[in-house]
Amino acid sequence: MTQDILYPLDDKRIWVAGHTGLVGASLVRALQDRGIEPLTVPRGQLDLRRQTETQDWINAHKPDVIILAAATVGGIAANMARPAEFIYDNLMIEANVIHGAYMAGVEKMLCLGSSCIYPKDALNPITEDMLLSGALEPSNAPYALAKIAGIELCQSYRRQYGCDFITAMPCNLYGPGDNFDVQGGHVIPALMRRAHAAKLSGEKALEVWGTGTPRREFLYASDLARGLLTLLEHYSGADPVNIGAGIDITIADLAAAIAAAVGFDGDLVFDATKPDGVHQKLLDSSVMRGLRWAPQVGLAQGLQETYRWFLDEYA
Ligand code: GDP
Repeated sequence: MTQDILYPLDDKRIWVAGHTGLVGASLVRALQDRGIEPLTVPRGQLDLRRQTETQDWINAHKPDVIILAAATVGGIAANMARPAEFIYDNLMIEANVIHGAYMAGVEKMLCLGSSCIYPKDALNPITEDMLLSGALEPSNAPYALAKIAGIELCQSYRRQYGCDFITAMPCNLYGPGDNFDVQGGHVIPALMRRAHAAKLSGEKALEVWGTGTPRREFLYASDLARGLLTLLEHYSGADPVNIGAGIDITIADLAAAIAAAVGFDGDLVFDATKPDGVHQKLLDSSVMRGLRWAPQVGLAQGLQETYRWFLDEYA
């Protein structure tokens, strides 16, 4: 419904920062589907942790819109092993890009956060107003704190300078182009790769980290990308906006669904010496639903498409 559009994206110069990641690559495809070719820059040419470099690049390329999808991210083991990188890189990237956007007069900016910003004991489904109402889950607190700082930065630049900077908090994400590293990746790509290897070598069991009881909400990356474009065009406000699939699943059921997608028919063995992380994080995505966005790709289909990509491009 065009009359609702606050900020039409057509004809805008849009920089997708972090265009090679899971989210950034999906955003590039979603924009191209609409006939918009975004600005991008390879990581080797611009290190977003460096302030002057970042400011110079923004000044030279003059985007109207920035979508900040660049971040140092990883699964539970990576967060626990590399806490300094997770807090330092993300704080620097956010501070440099947000301040650079303000200095260059960027019209609109969307910064990506994560559902792990919410307290570990938050009531589920988690509404946006639960932010800073309790202690964080320790396994990813450094990353979460950096992402909370990103929200506060956007809110502060809005309050002091009137910048139209907004923030979105997605649930756990997956899809083609994900990081399939067994140690560093999130649960879906890591387990998918290990299930694939187990199938090929005829192993009878697949090890799943933790107890299998934690619950997670998974959104397919292309659904997120559509949602983010909806948000950019229809939302302007200081509050972060949750964006999730609306249903969660136990890690045990997820592992079974991954095994089915891969065609691994051995047993699942749970290794309770590995960390579970937070027990549940299911977002309340009512604000996004109110903007008439809804996910289109269910978990079974999304896992199949992710596995097909893994076979074609990665394995
Ligand atoms: P989190 O949502 O930040 O905890 O991110 P992850 O995707 O890393 O982990 C989600 C849940 O899956 C946690 O309870 C993990 O213990 C569990 N899990 C089971 N097997 C694996 C695995 O092979 N890799 C990862 N990353 N997590 C796994």
